[in-house]
Amino acid sequence: MMTNGLKITLWLLVPVAVVLLLFGIGILRDGKRAFTARERRIISETDSLMPVYTLPADTAVLRAVSVDFSDRELASPLLETLLSKMTYTVRHPSQDGVGIAAPQVGLNRRAVVVQRFDKAGEPFEAYLNIRIDRLEGELVCGPEGCLSVPGMRGMVPRYPQIQISYVRPGSTERQTEWVEGFTAVIFQHECDHLEGILYIDKAVELSEVEE
Ligand SMILES: [Zn+2]
Repeated sequence: MMTNGLKITLWLLVPVAVVLLLFGIGILRDGKRAFTARERRIISETDSLMPVYTLPADTAVLRAVSVDFSDRELASPLLETLLSKMTYTVRHPSQDGVGIAAPQVGLNRRAVVVQRFDKAGEPFEAYLNIRIDRLEGELVCGPEGCLSVPGMRGMVPRYPQIQISYVRPGSTERQTEWVEGFTAVIFQHECDHLEGILYIDKAVELSEVEE
């Protein structure tokens, strides 16, 4: 026979158990939450024209290796916001770029936006969790600059054909594609950013230019 005192004590434990359960679920959900607090802040609190990270002030971010998006992050509306702001930024007359990588707006994530000069209308397109799988042909030197290295230009050797693999926005399926010519050069430049590599590391000639 339970005493009344014990019954009351047990009933008191019910709300305590409920609170602990909710707290536990909260921790689990937070662990799986899309993006870090800092990343969420950068994505949601910047204007459409995002501040571009530059040398030497932002060396730590520009030199870090970027990581993939999780499936949960790939499906997040925050990622859509990030990609539309990156696209707005690279196309903005103040930047006038042909490609941009996520570290250049402060996120060490494998996202690039590239202008596809090899497609009709030369659209800007976003690529996620991107990697270069193969580099083919003889190295060819061409002029490059970088939004993150203002006031410089350089001649950089790049491969004329590359095979890339990536996930497109709105999908989780990995695709593979061969790209050639100038568009392949842009992909090499932007994918280097994801490894913390800048074109000035590879340039055979560097010169200062008037901004
Ligand atoms: Zn760059």
